[in-house]
Parts: sequence; structure tokens; C-alpha cells
Amino acid sequence: MTGPLSAPGWLTDGMRHVWLPYCQMKHADPPLPVVATAGTRLHLADGRELIDGIASWWTACHGYNHPHLRAALERQAATLPHVMFGGLAHEQALVLAQRLAALLPGDLERVFFAESGSVAVEVAMKMATQYWLNRGERGRTRILSFTGGYHGDTIATMAVCDPEEGMHSLFTGLLPEHHVRPLPRDPDSLAALEAFLERHAGEIAAILVEPLVQGAGGMLFHDGAVLRRLRDLADRYGPLLIFDEIFTGFGRTGTMFACEAAGVVPDIVTLSKALTGGTLPLSAAVARTRVFDAFWSDDPMAALMHGPTYMGNALACAVANASLDLFEREPRLAQVAAIHGWLSAGLEPCRGLPGVKDVRTLGAIGVVQMERIGDLRALKRRLVAKGVWVRPFRDILYLTPAFTATQEDVMRLCGAITDVVRQGVP
Ligand SMILES: *Cc1c(COP(=O)(O)O)cnc(C)c1O
Repeated sequence: MTGPLSAPGWLTDGMRHVWLPYCQMKHADPPLPVVATAGTRLHLADGRELIDGIASWWTACHGYNHPHLRAALERQAATLPHVMFGGLAHEQALVLAQRLAALLPGDLERVFFAESGSVAVEVAMKMATQYWLNRGERGRTRILSFTGGYHGDTIATMAVCDPEEGMHSLFTGLLPEHHVRPLPRDPDSLAALEAFLERHAGEIAAILVEPLVQGAGGMLFHDGAVLRRLRDLADRYGPLLIFDEIFTGFGRTGTMFACEAAGVVPDIVTLSKALTGGTLPLSAAVARTRVFDAFWSDDPMAALMHGPTYMGNALACAVANASLDLFEREPRLAQVAAIHGWLSAGLEPCRGLPGVKDVRTLGAIGVVQMERIGDLRALKRRLVAKGVWVRPFRDILYLTPAFTATQEDVMRLCGAITDVVRQGVP
């Protein structure tokens, strides 16, 4: 462990002043001091090197410090780092909007930029609600989302997360009330959702779902048929359909976007995480033509009233364009398919070990779900001691490596997980 002898001064001094995410700071180990990154490696202040198994919350899909991203960033920094998006335009954002529209299926044509995933989801919720107001339907103010879902940490997005994940009981009275229902995975849950929509359709602005994978809520998978049912229900009962592809977008599940695999065109898609290849914060809510058309009006009040200060940041858009170049030039989706094979083979030995509830993989996502994890801190220490950076949460250990990870990287990551599971997860 990083003891007092090896901890750099900036860590010990700074730790008195930072407030860390998702962390009971009284009992947590101090964060590991990282002094450099390269490819799939984190270099720590004391000279240790860890293989990164989760690519910084699955953002760094090309590995760290990719020279093409760095060159784009340096070029942009030298010419135009940022200008406001209200009344001014710049090439990188407008080119990126065209490229995203071309990559996304159907008429998902209109791109609204923001800086974080949560805000993109809020913008999508706002678009959906105002879509109905602009069309003269006043009652559709709620969102229908799903148990196991995760859509962000802001107050509006917490309200559409799984009630436990979104801490709905803790924040009762603060959170707006939406409807969080079970996903229609089978005939019974489909019938229940349909009955629910019969009764409530008139108050629902949109159905919101993470397609194929509910990520931060527990890495739960479902198949494309579930999404086709949601499209069908949305068409029959009216609500817009929003796919939150912040986790799945840009290749993670094996296709560029999860909606492609399902053959479904949602009405709004949210993107972030891997959009800039893990370098700068940027997000987008992309709407279909019919959504945008409801805002195209002689009435100034029908405009979308939203505009983050750093909207369409030029550095972030330049690096996002460079990231899309890499998806064109380098065989990213083939790499995802190869990683899928390595993860499946590498985690398979966990299946049937004591305490293991499930082993599952999809694209470049590998999950070992335990019956329970009692001591996450001890488990994290054991993984770090094995030279890997993996961040188990709740009852799962998962891998979402960079798509540039080698077979050796992936096998070492899987080996570390298999070892700790075999030794007995605390
Ligand atoms: C991470 C995530 C978000 C929130 O993004 P932030 O940038 O952390 O606000 C929303 N939805 C999904 C599916 C995510 O994975």
C-alpha cells in the first residue's frame, strides 16, 4: 500500500481539501497517486505500474495518451481553445455534429452539446417534456424509466435512476417523482408495463432506458427484443423513446451504438463517456427531426431554453473528432470482438467458484457477479496488490478495458480477478 513514506506531499496536503466521489472519506483508503498514464497503464508516484481494467469509467477507449488525440488537442489549443456557443460558431463543433448525425441511425440529426452525461440526460428530459408542451399537450411531464438503471447524479437524473441507486428514500421530497418500473424482459413484465401505460400514458413524456446494458446500476444486460418492445410501446402510447447511450456508445457493446444492434431508432440519444476518448468532458443529446421540428416555431417561448457556458467546447470537440478518426482508421470494433473472446475465456474459470453468482460478457464488458462482497476496501487492496486497477462495486467485479488492450493485458486482468475470487472474496 501507499504508506506515508511514499505518499507525495501534494497528496497528503491536498487530501485535506478535496471532497471525493462516492466515498465515505473517514474510512476509505487514500486515492492512489497517479503521475502518468500511457496506453493501458497507470504509473503511480512510488514507481508501481497498474494495468487499467476500467479505462477511467470506460472513457479511455483508445488507451491513454493516444498521439492522434494529443496532436488534435495541441493544434486546437494553439488556435481556438474555447468560444461561447451563443451567437458564435466554430468548425470543430459543427463538424462533430455532422459526424455524429451521420454515424447515428435514422434521422437522429440534431445535436445539442453539453459537458457531462447527467446534463445531457437532463437536456433530453427537457426536450421531451417541452416537445409535448409545444404540441399543446400539457399533462405529459413524467419520465418512465427502469429499475437497475443509472442516468446520472444530478437531482433530476437521480429521480430517474433505480430508486436504490438514486437514493430516492434518502432524498424524498427533493426529487421530482417519475415512474421507475421493471424492464419488460418477459411476457409478464411486458404485460405489466403495458397495463401501466394504459393507465398513465397521458402523463408520460418519454420512456428512458440504457440500451443493452444497465451500467453503473449493476452491469445488467438485456437483449435487443426488450428495446424493440419499448419502441413498440412508445409508438402505441405516444411517449418519446430516449436511449441513454452514455455507457454503451462508441463501440462498448460491439457495435458503434447499442441501438444499431437492436435495430431500433430512438427519438433522442444521449452520449458522453467515450465521446472524447477519455480526455475532456463533453456530452450530447441528439434528437430526431420530429423532435426538433416541434421547437421550430414563430413562438419564441417554443425554443429550447438551455445553454451550458462551456457548450461545444472547442478543445473537447476537436478531440472528439480525433477520436472518431481513430474509429475510422483503426480496427476498433474488431478489437472489441477480440476482447470479448478474451474476457469470456479469461473469466470463465470464475463460474462455479464459491460465492460466484454469475459470469457474463458483452462486447468489451466482462462481469463477475458475487453473492455478496462484504469488504470492498479489502478486495480493492488485493486487486491493486496484483498490479491491476479494477473498481468493484456493490456485488460485482467488472472489466471495461481500453479497446487497444492487448490479449496479455486482458488475460492479466482476468487472471487477477480469477485469483482473488478463487482465494475467496472478503
Ligand atoms: C456515467 C453515466 C451517466 C452520467 O454521466 P456523468 O458524466 O457522470 O454526469 C449517465 N448515464 C449513463 C448510462 C452513464 O453511464
